[in-house]
Amino acid sequence: MGTDTHERIIIIGSGPAAHTAAVYAARAELSPLLFEGFMAGGVAAGGQLTTTTEVENYPGFPEGIQGPELMDRMRAQSLHHGTRIKTETVAKVELGSRPFRIHAPSGTYTTDALVISTGATAKRMHLPGEERLWQKGISACAVCDGALPIFRNAPLVVIGGGDSACEEASYLTKFGSSVTMLVRRDELRASKAMQKRVLNNEKIRVLWNTEATEVSGEDKLQYVHVKNNHSGEEQKIEAAGLFYAIGHTPNTAFLEGQLETDETGYLLTMPDSTATALPGVFAAGDVKDKVWRQAVTAAGMGCMAALEAERFLAEQE
Ligand SMILES: Cc1cc2nc3c(=O)[nH]c(=O)nc-3n(C[C@H](O)[C@H](O)[C@H](O)COP(=O)(O)OP(=O)(O)OC[C@H]3O[C@@H](n4cnc5c(N)ncnc54)[C@H](O)[C@@H]3O)c2cc1C
Repeated sequence: MGTDTHERIIIIGSGPAAHTAAVYAARAELSPLLFEGFMAGGVAAGGQLTTTTEVENYPGFPEGIQGPELMDRMRAQSLHHGTRIKTETVAKVELGSRPFRIHAPSGTYTTDALVISTGATAKRMHLPGEERLWQKGISACAVCDGALPIFRNAPLVVIGGGDSACEEASYLTKFGSSVTMLVRRDELRASKAMQKRVLNNEKIRVLWNTEATEVSGEDKLQYVHVKNNHSGEEQKIEAAGLFYAIGHTPNTAFLEGQLETDETGYLLTMPDSTATALPGVFAAGDVKDKVWRQAVTAAGMGCMAALEAERFLAEQE
């Protein structure tokens, strides 16, 4: 039972940000304790990359590497340097005074410094057929997966009408034979410049007032079934790829509003820093980044968080 065990640094999360922070903190002899979560937010310990197959853009793996294997390796590296890992989801934190209190199933822990790297979860629609075809043509990250061979010169579909959806649709035109955007309303929510880019691109067709209702295919995605929400008309669109671009939910609910966030729930940090407004609390990775959202950028922020925490702890002594 870990009741009131005191730690110098606790890291919450299990993606590239958390493990990079752990490697740096462990090598700095801070003996970090890391809570990796147990299906936290519906995602396995290891974070978002456990939900994908090939990762081709993480440096050091010229032939690419499977997402789950990359995360196993990061975890092994954390352990190798002395990180202690608990497969538990942090339910609640108390940040009102130092040391901070962290509540997990095995007990309450106190800590002088805290790194929050709980990531974000890409929103999905969970359409009929989706679980079976997930990662067999269906993805929630065009920048990550768009260049994979299965999408080359093939018809692709993007769901969403905001800036990210427009950005992703434009990006996918480099690879697909065509890109169909399914937009629920009769207008795009994206900036005017972004709208222009999409509407002027002859490889992109926009289906207005249109919602996906189902996905089908034998062993990979073949069709996206759609319905016009005005006329009720239904059709089956041939598609080798379906990309969700309907936003992400940062995993911050357990913080119960104790840290400042933007209007969409992403943690706010100081410029060029992972420090939150609360001294001793650092935020790294997708939980504070709605712009780049890549494994390598998350890892970079994890490194920053550990170095900043180390500096903070040294100043306290
Ligand atoms: C389908 C898909 C494919 C992708 N492909 C690529 C790619 O090819 N290349 C690339 O660079 N990026 C890719 N990305 C993006 C990449 O996965 C993320 O940018 C990266 O994983 C973010 O890392 P992170 O450390 O911030 O957290 P995450 O990977 O989001 O992990 C955080 C994890 O922390 C755990 N956690 C959450 N809450 C708690 C809690 N309260 N207590 C304990 N643990 C908790 C959960 O397991 C959570 O998943 C992909 C994303 C998706 C969804």
